[in-house]
Amino acid sequence: MPDDAIVAHEMGIANALAAGYALLERGATAVDAVEAAVAVMEDDEIFDAGRGSFLTQDGRVQMDALLMDGSNLRTGGVACVERLRNPIHAARLVLDHSPHVYFVGTGAERFARQHGMALCDNMELVIPREQERLYKAQAAELAGLPDETFSGNLDSHDTVGAVALDVHGNIAAGTSTGGTLNKAPGRVGDSSLIGCGCYADNLSAAVSLTGWGEPIMKLVLGKWAVDRVAAGDSPQDAAQAAIDYLFARLGGHGGIILLGPDGRFGMAHNTPRMAWGVQTTAGPRLGVTRNEQS
Ligand code: ASP
Repeated sequence: MPDDAIVAHEMGIANALAAGYALLERGATAVDAVEAAVAVMEDDEIFDAGRGSFLTQDGRVQMDALLMDGSNLRTGGVACVERLRNPIHAARLVLDHSPHVYFVGTGAERFARQHGMALCDNMELVIPREQERLYKAQAAELAGLPDETFSGNLDSHDTVGAVALDVHGNIAAGTSTGGTLNKAPGRVGDSSLIGCGCYADNLSAAVSLTGWGEPIMKLVLGKWAVDRVAAGDSPQDAAQAAIDYLFARLGGHGGIILLGPDGRFGMAHNTPRMAWGVQTTAGPRLGVTRNEQS
């Protein structure tokens, strides 16, 4: 995250917190709050989700999202969608209205449309900043620069996620992404895969991850982290352990937010920076943490 984007990230997080928490204060479910918070960030071009997402190799936006209800394990996921402004709303429709858990591509778009969502043109989601970024990445690739300068590790960031605990004692998690810069069309990362970039279970914890998706998927890292909470770790210890494991095992980079059903939470990242926010009855707190080691 460049210096000049910090304030915009903080504002985006503040807006997401306000939207989610307002619902929780009115007695809404954790799923409602997570969906609302994620949708606000999808609508904000600063993040890699919804409009403003990273572009695929062929210059299109292709998005993935997952939403999970920890009270009953109901889950909705969509991947490789190109014509939905808010993939997290489509994930919610899957969670609420389908016996299936996961839809991809045109089938996901059709399902969303059948349940009332409008389809947009993919070019409405593409912004000039991302066209420029893709152009530079592809120029670097042509020039034979190291792979991580144009894809994967260094340009895996800005996925959005939220976790929430409601007055009923239930937790939920959601993650939404445009994936990685210059990804091959059809590539799906960790974000929308159950147990990888997102998971929620009242018996363990709710988790959302960002970062280089392929290592996170290989380690099924979201489930790994919530299982540590179920085994007795605090969410903060489990969050740090997950990021340490990601790096030690596969050299991966990422960030994690983790929330237990008792309200304890944890965050960790080994990326240079991560934007985060927390709201409790004590009020909102947010910031961009810097990781000096990375
Ligand atoms: N994890 C996402 C992916 O690999 C990227 C990100 O977190 O920014 O698709």
